[in-house]
Amino acid sequence: MKLAVIGRGMIGSAATRHLAEAGYNVTLIGTREPEAYATHDGVFASHYDEGRITRGLDQNRFWSDVSRASIARYRKLEAATGTRFYEEVGVLMAGPQGRSLIDAVLSVAQSTNIDHDQLDAEQLAQRFPYFHFPQDTLGVFETTNAGYINPRRMVQAQLIAAKNAGAHFVDGVAGGLNEAANGISVDVGGANLNFDRVLLATGGFTQSLLGDEVPLNIYARTVALFSIDADEQCRLAGMPSHISLLEDGRDPYLLPPILYPDGSVCLKLGGDPEDNVLENTQDVKDWFRSGGSQSVGQFLEHSIREKMPNLRIIETRIAPCVTSFTEDELPVIRALTGRVAVAVGGNGKGAKNSDELGRLGAEALVGQPVV
Ligand SMILES: Cc1cc2nc3c(=O)[nH]c(=O)nc-3n(C[C@H](O)[C@H](O)[C@H](O)COP(=O)(O)OP(=O)(O)OC[C@H]3O[C@@H](n4cnc5c(N)ncnc54)[C@H](O)[C@@H]3O)c2cc1C
Repeated sequence: MKLAVIGRGMIGSAATRHLAEAGYNVTLIGTREPEAYATHDGVFASHYDEGRITRGLDQNRFWSDVSRASIARYRKLEAATGTRFYEEVGVLMAGPQGRSLIDAVLSVAQSTNIDHDQLDAEQLAQRFPYFHFPQDTLGVFETTNAGYINPRRMVQAQLIAAKNAGAHFVDGVAGGLNEAANGISVDVGGANLNFDRVLLATGGFTQSLLGDEVPLNIYARTVALFSIDADEQCRLAGMPSHISLLEDGRDPYLLPPILYPDGSVCLKLGGDPEDNVLENTQDVKDWFRSGGSQSVGQFLEHSIREKMPNLRIIETRIAPCVTSFTEDELPVIRALTGRVAVAVGGNGKGAKNSDELGRLGAEALVGQPVV
């Protein structure tokens, strides 16, 4: 059986690795990160960054399960590929005591035996003196098997492992699918490539191939990066990743100091004040090319000054991204026809668990267990 995976992103690279390692003949179709966003006319991706929070903690058991399944395989993938992508600095989730969100996180932590400490406002202030917390805050600190991953490097590791297992690669954008009785062809740059089955792991660009067959809300996101100097890096040594679960339903997320490709060391804060839907693929491309929203950047800078009042910021910059949300906030991983399957819908949290989502996508494609 000749298989293809479309999408060289977090889920597609994982699906390709799992298929290749299970002995399937698989080809990954996709492109590399563009060098200049502003002038790029092709597709973009949601993982072009140096940090994504990884954790077993979640309000929802499904997301906790797929994340813990993935996290358990990180070190083996790193060792097999010589590619480090995981930093186990821990994750702190915090919110108003007695409210459903933080209670749900605590309940999943307890029912899944996640290593965690439960901290009140006073204990939080002692343990994390650089953060400000309101008096009624409850913190759940996941001490092990949590922290952050470098998503670019994790994809790289998946690609190396897939290649070592015999996967093939086609550099290009899939322009369309043509399903027939005896196979399915994929148009890549005008050439028709023929396969028996195809898995789409196309993230925020799924609509361009499937129309509205798999409904996704693609939201424009802006993150702010705050560069800091060496003294601040020392002061913040050991800082975990941190998510606040706020009363108004927002959940801003903060990554500890991370080295960026330009040599700067930055904290990253995300959490847009509102959801702006991008209606179609052209809007998604335009959004990436725009470089992000200056006003959201200002909002995030104000937010970090509340969260970390003593933080000495050298420079603030912003970056664009998109998230793909489904109606029930769970990913869509299933066969659409006898020849086409999808694995999409990261719902803003699909990086950490992408290895397991990719494995599930591989199973949806071949219709049997892939281990
Ligand atoms: C700002 C931001 C912060 C986030 N933070 C976190 C976090 O802390 N933790 C976490 O777990 N998750 C986080 N996420 C979510 C996570 O990054 C995504 O859920 C994840 O990247 C989804 O993986 P994917 O494979 O579906 O999409 P992608 O990684 O975007 O991959 C899709 C790939 O498909 C390719 N593609 C699309 N169409 C075509 C085509 N026609 N032909 C060829 N290739 C195509 C794209 O180029 C891309 O490479 C965050 C997302 C954003 C935007």
